[in-house]
Amino acid sequence: MRLILLGPPGAGKGTQAQVLVEELEVPHISTGDMFRAAMKAGTELGRQAKSYVDKGELVPDSVTIGLVRERLALPDCRKGFLLDGFPRTVAQAEALDELLAGLDMALDAVVNIQVDPEVLVNRLSNRRTCRNCGAVYHLLHKPPASPGKCDACGGELYQRPDDHEATVRNRLEVYTAQTRPLIDFYRRKGLLHSVDGEAEVEQVTVEIRRELGL
Ligand SMILES: [Zn+2]
Repeated sequence: MRLILLGPPGAGKGTQAQVLVEELEVPHISTGDMFRAAMKAGTELGRQAKSYVDKGELVPDSVTIGLVRERLALPDCRKGFLLDGFPRTVAQAEALDELLAGLDMALDAVVNIQVDPEVLVNRLSNRRTCRNCGAVYHLLHKPPASPGKCDACGGELYQRPDDHEATVRNRLEVYTAQTRPLIDFYRRKGLLHSVDGEAEVEQVTVEIRRELGL
């Protein structure tokens, strides 16, 4: 099955991706991992990507799409794949359609995990992370036994800069602005399956399975 997984930061996309790739036995292709692998391998496109990343600039679509093409052409994608973090824009989605056609492939479904932005702000801005072991807590739903201290290792809990409320709101706004047209694009193609990401993790999995007919 060839899938795209969409969802804002904090929607639990990573968790659902893990369940899906295990069940479907397809590779999980996240753009972050793909960039890191290509840069490490030192391929031509990897070197190009690195030159932008090192300058702190966005990697241009031509390079990203080239990397996706190389990745999807690998033998482990014959059974399908789960794309995560790509496409982000309609232009990228159109490029993806074209490159899939070139590989004699087509998308089966786009799963969109929907969560109200205010719920995400609450989830993310109440998150605390252990400096020592990386364990994650939530001040309301999963508080540590003693304030500011990790249950597992006693390490200091802190708020990652990414989890500050203003940063969270900004990330969500950028995501929504980019993704709304993409969601419409896939809805028009009849590929969109939206699920309620505010439910419990297991319930979200159940809903995704039902949507995909698994
Ligand atoms: Zn810890």
